[in-house]
Amino acid sequence: MPFSTGFEAFVRSDEPLYLHTWLHIGGPAEFFATPRDRDELKSVVTRAAEQGLTVRLLGGGSNILVRDEGVKGVVVRLDAPAFAEISTIGDVVRAGGGAKLGHVMSEAVAHGLAGLESLVGIPGTIGGALRLNAGTRSGDIGQWTKRATVMNRAGEIIEHERPDLVFAYRQSSLDELVILEAEFELESENPEELSKRMQKQWIVRKAGQPLGHQCAGQVFRNPRGMSAGMLIDQAGLKGHRVGAAEVSDRHANFIIADPNCPSRDVIELIELIRERVQDRLGVELETDIEIW
Ligand SMILES: Cc1cc2nc3c(=O)[nH]c(=O)nc-3n(C[C@H](O)[C@H](O)[C@H](O)COP(=O)(O)OP(=O)(O)OC[C@H]3O[C@@H](n4cnc5c(N)ncnc54)[C@H](O)[C@@H]3O)c2cc1C
Repeated sequence: MPFSTGFEAFVRSDEPLYLHTWLHIGGPAEFFATPRDRDELKSVVTRAAEQGLTVRLLGGGSNILVRDEGVKGVVVRLDAPAFAEISTIGDVVRAGGGAKLGHVMSEAVAHGLAGLESLVGIPGTIGGALRLNAGTRSGDIGQWTKRATVMNRAGEIIEHERPDLVFAYRQSSLDELVILEAEFELESENPEELSKRMQKQWIVRKAGQPLGHQCAGQVFRNPRGMSAGMLIDQAGLKGHRVGAAEVSDRHANFIIADPNCPSRDVIELIELIRERVQDRLGVELETDIEIW
């Protein structure tokens, strides 16, 4: 049976992924699924497994670079309302894997709950943030995570409580196929002071990173005790270009893609940066952005 049969309401073929990624570049997904509830999601996941198709999860697409030739198999995006619900009970905020991190932060701050505001300015969804343990110098999402609900490749739903959850720099133990939902246990604080603190942190971040620039991607992990941006700057690469891709002159760990930039320009620029930093400074940089 063709993969899409019976799934016409929520699966499209050859969907251009540049429409769904932060860098606004990249080729199509063979199948693009936006299930409306957990049952539809399970049907997609199990049929893909039966047909030997690879399934990838796409959140806000802020940490993904899609190659020009696109991707085979199924790309799933949890943008239906059922996957983006946010609610608060006491000092616990519960959010769907497709909820935007910024919306969850605003909900927490509005209820006078502190913790997640340290992530202000990080784009993307709860699912992407948990998979990568998104964070800043002031903290990461993992430290506030109390519980997570996931779906595995067999379509089974599993609950993980705090003792099973392990988070480290840009890593988490949440490596099942889909992060469906999570709960964050936060700390009560005066909402006005909290809101002021978040605004201050936002201003500081905005000044130091090309956040207003939609076509930017943060590229490398920070090597232990060092800043990837600083190393790239020391290697003399701020503003360096390959075709339509450029190292940001505001923060060297970001690449800016001009309109119509092919992904191969960004990939070549990433390779050039890696080689130059290794040659000049003897440090091996590891990519943070995922290349599909
Ligand atoms: C301007 C800019 C600033 C940034 N600043 C920071 C920063 O300060 N700190 C930081 O940590 N990161 C930062 N990032 C990187 C990125 O925004 C974060 O890693 C973010 O958490 C990724 O979320 P996303 O929803 O966009 O995930 P995506 O990029 O869509 O996906 C990232 C990974 O998560 C997986 N994934 C997504 N959703 C799910 C799900 N529901 N279930 C299972 N897996 C899923 C994907 O398969 C992929 O492996 C920045 C990026 C940009 C462009």
